[in-house]
Amino acid sequence: MSPDKYIKNYINGALVPAVSGEYFDNYNPAIGQVYSHIPDSDEQDVQQALEAAERALPEWKRMEPTKRFRILTRIADIIEQNLEEFAKAESIDSGKPFAMARSVDIPRAHQNIRFFATSLLHFSSESHSMPNQAINYTLRQPIGVVGCISPWNLPLYLFTWKIAPALATGNCVIGKPSEMTPMTAYMLSKACIEAGLPEGVLNIVHGHGAKTGQAMVEHPCIKAISFTGGTETGKKIISTAGPMFKKLSLELGGKNPNIIFADCDFDEMMMTTLRSSFSNNGQICLCGSRIYIERAIYEKFRDELVKRTQFLKVGDPFSAVTDLGALVSKAHMEKVMGYLTLAEVEGGTILCGGTPVKMKGEYADGYFLRPAVIEGLTQDCRTIQEEIFGPVVTITPFDTEEEVLGFANGTDYGLSATVWTKDISRANRMAENLEAGIVWVNCWMVRDLRTPFGGVKSSGVGREGGLEAMKFFTEPKNVCIKYS
Ligand code: NAD
Repeated sequence: MSPDKYIKNYINGALVPAVSGEYFDNYNPAIGQVYSHIPDSDEQDVQQALEAAERALPEWKRMEPTKRFRILTRIADIIEQNLEEFAKAESIDSGKPFAMARSVDIPRAHQNIRFFATSLLHFSSESHSMPNQAINYTLRQPIGVVGCISPWNLPLYLFTWKIAPALATGNCVIGKPSEMTPMTAYMLSKACIEAGLPEGVLNIVHGHGAKTGQAMVEHPCIKAISFTGGTETGKKIISTAGPMFKKLSLELGGKNPNIIFADCDFDEMMMTTLRSSFSNNGQICLCGSRIYIERAIYEKFRDELVKRTQFLKVGDPFSAVTDLGALVSKAHMEKVMGYLTLAEVEGGTILCGGTPVKMKGEYADGYFLRPAVIEGLTQDCRTIQEEIFGPVVTITPFDTEEEVLGFANGTDYGLSATVWTKDISRANRMAENLEAGIVWVNCWMVRDLRTPFGGVKSSGVGREGGLEAMKFFTEPKNVCIKYS
């Protein structure tokens, strides 16, 4: 299950180079150097994957559910048995702390597969009776060959979140992980081979988004695309796939409000707010990057947040005391730092952080940044409106529920929101009025895999999770039988 220097595509059950024979560089962001190479796949590789998937489809979609369940479960078991190696590879590829990859990313990857493997055993459809006339029943059939495209921030976690329900419902899949973090998807291909997944059922094609991903989206025989990534990429995908009438699920960016009322449990809120601000270096689509605090506790909150943020340890992803590892790439670090410069131009004050961490030795060229807290910005500025996706939060005081709802709903995004209060009526009022796909009250990132997951406005179209994902990857067909 080990990582290799030369990553291969997984097509028709075999590990193969790109048809072009070309590779491009894969960086270890903690040392700032190339450590492996990624196949530079193009439409020829996508075509090969498609042909393999089409050959595999008739048998896979008709396979006895318990057999499909057993194969998927074996893949989950292999990931779990190789937890350390997967977590190490995820940390090296993405810069995130090994401890996080080991306790969050990889466990969630095998849980995703197991969750949907068991779901397939319980998946059923409806029937609608018309008394004395007819009975309708609904068949839920796999779509065919589907595409799953995932981002770099939670690499194997989000890749498996898509491919597992697609496979469980009997589709054959062409998956494309992010070119920034392809290693654990490559290791997954080895796990699939070991688990005896039939050839062509899952194909993993590596490469650049604009080339490999775009070729998948454009291919007329890939009937559905499940995509997680940036809002701009989502727009591109919809403009290509929309006129082709493809089924689309788009999980896009966020700029999530974290709303703190003075009556909250301050200690618990502080502990969780530190996590919701800076976990994975703020590179989680659900991080609460806009923090709104009721004026009565604004100063107490600000001083405490700054103090705790300054205590966070940034550095060696393999050290047990590290809170924040490296950002995913040099370009991303420059983008985040660009927003910090912009924040000051827009009138904000950086209360702490925002400067690169100069490491010694092996990590001297890594992309490490001190987490930043900014205050004093107005709601219409770009720092508040645009997704930064880094270890940066803004803090703003508010006076009334109405005012903070206006702030919270005042961006194009609508992925998640967090509310801290002991007043249950207020919590319910806020939950009802917040424009978001997910609202957390007095918690953050508490996830039940059965619940719908997704965003409103520019944060996405459609829902993943539980039954929603099983429904997305199937076409309902109504059969009406008349009797008299
Ligand atoms: P991205 O949009 O740059 O890339 C995502 C994936 O799309 C990658 O695999 C990439 O290669 C591919 N891609 C790029 N251009 C493409 C094209 N034209 N056609 C098809 N595929 C293409 O996003 P990213 O930088 O990898 O990830 C960060 C973004 O993802 C952030 O905006 C974040 O909020 C978002 N995200 C959203 C969720 C969610 O559930 N809503 C979860 C995680 C991340």
